[in-house]
Amino acid sequence: MIFGKKKTADKKETSGEPQVPNLEIKAAGVPKEEAVGLLIACRQLPGYPLAVILLANAINSRADRILIDFSAQGAVPRYRVDGIWEALPAMDRPTADALLVVWKKVLGLNPAERKARQDGKFATNFRDIDWVISFMSTGVPSGERVLFTIERKKPVLKTLADLGMRDSVQESFKGLMNGDKGMVVISAPPTHGLPTTWRLALDNADKFVRDWVLIDNKKNQEADIINVTEFFYEDGGETPEAVFDKVRLKQPDVYVLPSLIGPQIVEALLNQIHKEQKHSVTRIVANDAIDAVSQILKGNPKHAKAILGVMQGVLNQRLIRRLCESCKQAYAPTPQLLQKLNLPAGRVPKLYKPTIPPPPEQRVDAKGNPIEIEICKRCNGRGYFGRMALFELLIINDKMRQAIAQLLDKPDELRKFAKQNGHSGFLEEGILACALGQTSLEEVQRILQSK
Ligand SMILES: [Zn+2]
Repeated sequence: MIFGKKKTADKKETSGEPQVPNLEIKAAGVPKEEAVGLLIACRQLPGYPLAVILLANAINSRADRILIDFSAQGAVPRYRVDGIWEALPAMDRPTADALLVVWKKVLGLNPAERKARQDGKFATNFRDIDWVISFMSTGVPSGERVLFTIERKKPVLKTLADLGMRDSVQESFKGLMNGDKGMVVISAPPTHGLPTTWRLALDNADKFVRDWVLIDNKKNQEADIINVTEFFYEDGGETPEAVFDKVRLKQPDVYVLPSLIGPQIVEALLNQIHKEQKHSVTRIVANDAIDAVSQILKGNPKHAKAILGVMQGVLNQRLIRRLCESCKQAYAPTPQLLQKLNLPAGRVPKLYKPTIPPPPEQRVDAKGNPIEIEICKRCNGRGYFGRMALFELLIINDKMRQAIAQLLDKPDELRKFAKQNGHSGFLEEGILACALGQTSLEEVQRILQSK
């Protein structure tokens, strides 16, 4: 790693300048000729090699974010890999400044501006994959903060199975999505992949025999969903009510509402569900399924009872790291552990844990001599590689509906009730993923504790 190397190596090393990857940078919103000129000029800048290496290393490490915090002393870059922030060795201030000048210049921003927020976007191709990268810099009390968001241009995930949804859950969820006269809710905590699951759930729903329409605010427009006709209202333009009325005349079968918008739309939607047997799908950011139900009902007090009446199921998910298949270690769980996990004895002979090498300063023997430790090449010693989702699917039948109506202000009692009635929550789903060797108990614990 280049930053680690810089600390110990002589600055004027001659034995090989770092190899600068060939990264074309196509800045968005900058006229093409100007962009070419900027790129040529930037290649001459002293910070160019490091600017490009920082990004290339991030992509090589599967990072989806780069964060650089500038202070008076220097700058600390961090990569986010599988949802975990990893600090890289600190850079001195002149090095970091030189690097930042390159990014600001190449994106047509003002390098001298260190306080006001500046945004840029660019496309690049690296390792035969097209990437879309957003850049943001802004002044903060301690100095300046820079954030890169790294995304693939073409999404890799195509089905809910790719996300790790079990067959039986897929079956139930598809039944809900393809049902009628009701409402399905898709939810997740912040940063747990809700936009992706939303897209996959809709992409994979049966849209050949039924017409699906989406109504949303123009400013929230996301990537197109296959075979869902989209209608937008705009601030200062057509109202949501007017758009809903127009859409209603087309007699669609399923209304997709990324948010329930307001009481008038909710009333119109409920009318469509009750009188015209229409179906609907909505989404909300929530910690678990019960939280999603609670937020929707409390957020629409006037129609809470009617909404609960048509709600058929709630999906919630949390992202969890997958164990690295190359270095995960099997161990035999003790009978006590199995009992604690509520797993029948004999059914799960092995559980797995990650291989995490000790930090470099501890890689010494009793005499203080360094020892060689082999680091897994696939996960680079992280012990995990990639992520999957744990899903909880709360089916709202009459029994559950009654309990929700009575216990809405006691969510923990409601969770207990759901569990007693066969609902499988994140703990149960997590233990199942461990039994299948997909993840570790400590990772499940980490995910359950995160708020
Ligand atoms: Zn590994």
